[in-house]
Amino acid sequence: MANRDGWIWMDGQWLPWRDATVHAMTHTLHYGLGCFEGLRAYDTPAGPAIFRLDEHIERLFDSAHILGLDMPFDRPTLKQACMSAVHRNGLRQAYIRPLVFLGAEKAGIDPLGAATHVMVAAWVMNAYLGEDGLNRGIRVKVSSFARHHVNVQMCRAKSVSTYTNSILACREARAEGYDEALLLDTDGFVAEGPGENVFLVKRGVIHEPEITSALDGITRRTLHTLAADAGFEIRTRRITRDELYVADEVFFTGTAAELTPVIELDRRRIGNGRPGPVTRELQRRFFACVRGEPGNGHPDWLTPSRAG
Ligand code: PMP
Repeated sequence: MANRDGWIWMDGQWLPWRDATVHAMTHTLHYGLGCFEGLRAYDTPAGPAIFRLDEHIERLFDSAHILGLDMPFDRPTLKQACMSAVHRNGLRQAYIRPLVFLGAEKAGIDPLGAATHVMVAAWVMNAYLGEDGLNRGIRVKVSSFARHHVNVQMCRAKSVSTYTNSILACREARAEGYDEALLLDTDGFVAEGPGENVFLVKRGVIHEPEITSALDGITRRTLHTLAADAGFEIRTRRITRDELYVADEVFFTGTAAELTPVIELDRRRIGNGRPGPVTRELQRRFFACVRGEPGNGHPDWLTPSRAG
């Protein structure tokens, strides 16, 4: 990832991709206090456009606020950095990564005295769980790792250190031959995937877990609107893993994962083992929105990327 052409925005300057480096004493590298976002730009008829830019930047500021990080840049500056990262790198579609981190100004757990830095990079990313995953669905395993208790890691923040737990779960699932993990909370109820929110469909009604131990996903919020558009009811409540086993349909949502059907959990087939009709309908509506297809009903969710 480091050795490639392109441009990365760092603290207000555009650096050649290979030169966008940090010092070995970078505080976040040692202790993990930082936050980030993941956005996607799609190739639309009006050119490359970022999906729900305002919401992602808002969540980045919320994350920084929760973690007590002083943001050295305002919202318009970071929105422009995201748009320019797509434009400057000549990308038609992209994954965009803003990261807020503490620098190498001081060592030790107490970050007082370490400056907050921000970078934004963008690169081409195809289907996160594979085209096959999007089309045919994925196989998932409940992780042996629990998702964070609310007093351990505050899940409203998309913080760097949350992802140690995600990596452990993801690596375990993949080492055992599954496509992805599903994490339960510390009470044993369904929380989320390592980088995805989860939904189930039972008798035409959509259910999702409370987000006490899960990120408030922007794709999740998108899905709430798309489900309402399509006339589906969504119920938010505690969900057990065996409810997923006997669901008609299960799917993951996330910026990277988009809307990925889950067809197997813990070696139990879900529904008939194929993506179900509700999942398909929501996928259709989701991709119509992100790709800016005419008449999708939500053109305001896309921001064209432009120079700046
Ligand atoms: N949960 C976790 C842990 C995630 O990392 C993500 C991806 N950001 C999500 C859920 C989905 O969030 P979003 O739809 O905003 O990408």
